[in-house]
Amino acid sequence: NLSDKLDKAFHILKGHGKITEVNVAETLKEVRRALLDADVNFKIAKDFTTKVKEKAIGQDVLTTLQPGQLLVKLVKDELTELMGGDVAGINLSGNPTVILMAGLQGSGKTTFSGKLANYLLTKKNKKPLLVACDIYRPAAIQQLYVVGDSIGVEVYSEPENKNPVEIAQNAIKHAKANGFNVVIVDTAGRLAVDEEMMNEIERVHKAIQPQETLFVVDAMTGQDAVNTAKAFNERLNFDGVILTKLDGDTRGGAAISIKSVVNKPIKFVGTGEKMDAIDVFYPIRMAERILGMGDVVSLVERAQEQFDEEEARKIQKKIAKNEFGFDDFLSQIQQVKKMGNMKDLVGMIPGASKAMKDVEIEDDAFKHIEAIIHSMTPIERSKPALIDVKRKARIAKGSGTKIEQVNQLMKQFDQMSKMMKMMQGPGGKNLMKMMGG
Ligand code: GDP
Ligand code: MG
Repeated sequence: NLSDKLDKAFHILKGHGKITEVNVAETLKEVRRALLDADVNFKIAKDFTTKVKEKAIGQDVLTTLQPGQLLVKLVKDELTELMGGDVAGINLSGNPTVILMAGLQGSGKTTFSGKLANYLLTKKNKKPLLVACDIYRPAAIQQLYVVGDSIGVEVYSEPENKNPVEIAQNAIKHAKANGFNVVIVDTAGRLAVDEEMMNEIERVHKAIQPQETLFVVDAMTGQDAVNTAKAFNERLNFDGVILTKLDGDTRGGAAISIKSVVNKPIKFVGTGEKMDAIDVFYPIRMAERILGMGDVVSLVERAQEQFDEEEARKIQKKIAKNEFGFDDFLSQIQQVKKMGNMKDLVGMIPGASKAMKDVEIEDDAFKHIEAIIHSMTPIERSKPALIDVKRKARIAKGSGTKIEQVNQLMKQFDQMSKMMKMMQGPGGKNLMKMMGG
């Protein structure tokens, strides 16, 4: 994947004591290749590396003390810029605010409609109304009802009416009469762009004049996503992009290309099927994620919603004092378990997605780990360095695991401690700030 490729590219730099112009060129070639592999449009990838190269030369990357780092930073900054730079907010100024979803069938419109309603309800104190304008399949209306039920949001539908324009207009009237301040209009999609669909959504768009027209696109569709985005943008001049299915094997390429081609900001991403799997799109975090730095800040933010503040502060102090031990590890695991889907979370930890890509992550992935830590004495937990071969054998026996499993945990713990120390460096400032430091 892209992260691995860039890792390799930067490795070229790190391996050399001295950076030469040839090295920079080689590395950027590798960066370009990585972008192309991630489905970034050829011209965009080329322009990108050219720009980074120019900047690198302008900043005298060759003569600085840590040219590798500087180049990484340049690449990251440039990627961030390419994806929109700043966070694009959502316009909630209307009364009611009307939000129209557009996109192909299966892109995630209905799911995202629910997620957005849930987000506006729980995070923005809004009273949203969901509107079913996908009138072609009774199942589609039913699906929106299921979604609405699960988050406690009312759904407006007119199953007997086959005119989505009228339904949307009536829904807005209904919203005004009943105190809803956001109206989210879910629409029908087709498997491919076609005239009929485009005409219909255009008519709905014209009739209801939404504050936000959001183009929903499946991030896994790569280059196709760009063409679809173009087609919808020509007809609707939409306001923002929603990138769904960014969980699992992420293709960062779609985000980069769509932004550059239609020049509309990506506003939210979908990261799972559940109603809370929605994140505001932060270009810088995405750039870091693509570069394999992991989405540390998102991870911490999600963690913060679940973590006890006090606990976080305690841990932070321990890390600072180098006193992080297995007891803390255990309590972190318990916190992490509360946070949800393990695969998502692992993907957000720097380096972890690579290290664990061959490991099948089960929900009870921590069962052995917990057993092993429970078999350690308090002193072993606080001073892991004490754990020698003899102690390992005892711990394995006590926890009903194999000595290899104990070894593996020790290694994981070691890596985690190192990672946490690293986070105290320049890159970890945000993390520490968010943890209350
Ligand atoms: P629509 O046809 O555009 O309304 O798409 P749906 O909302 O019905 O979604 C199509 C499928 O994609 C459903 O099975 C959803 O559960 C799934 N889906 C939607 N968003 C996400 C996401 O962010 N991550 C994952 N993994 N699945 C998603
Ligand atoms: Mg749908």
